[in-house]
Amino acid sequence: MNSVKVVNSNITPSKIVCVGRNYVEHISELGNEVPDNMVLFIKPNAAISAQLCSYHQETLHYEAELCFLYKQGKFCAVAVGLDLTKRALQSQLKAKGLPWERAKSFTGSALFSDFVTLDIIDDDLALALYINGECRQSGSVAKMIYSPQEILTEIQSFISLEDGDIVMTGTPAGVGEVVSGDTFEAQVLHRSEVLVAKQWQAI
Ligand code: MG
Repeated sequence: MNSVKVVNSNITPSKIVCVGRNYVEHISELGNEVPDNMVLFIKPNAAISAQLCSYHQETLHYEAELCFLYKQGKFCAVAVGLDLTKRALQSQLKAKGLPWERAKSFTGSALFSDFVTLDIIDDDLALALYINGECRQSGSVAKMIYSPQEILTEIQSFISLEDGDIVMTGTPAGVGEVVSGDTFEAQVLHRSEVLVAKQWQAI
């Protein structure tokens, strides 16, 4: 089983629950409709990887997201993650009304920075993604359609979360292709303070 790092310990999530379409500008860039209900899907533990790959059966797209670690009834830690997506395949599956797992839940589709503990999740918690030094994505809790607490409540209305499970809260605008050789730097920020950052070199 794969692990993520939380402060100085390793945690093995049983699953990752992901929100789709949680920022209005990202919904527009993909030509999707604002959903009536929260769009949720799951990545298994096997999706977790430390390596950022540009290709897995097809070119992969990045989606940087604020990610929360669940423990004892609440979110206790935050990280920035990449929800890697086979966009061409996902478009085909969506058009046919088929499940997304082949496009979203493959091995290597979930990358995370270390998690840092946090006491309060407020509107100023934010993420930024830089590729080769250029800011490509930025978002914050304030810009989410569904807040982290609303997401937690909705998930728990139909599935149990285990301690150590991760919730990915959706991506802001600016998604695109992962290009081999590119340097990705992702950050979690609170106002201007960087809480945690992670760098990946795409292969
Ligand atoms: Mg996503």
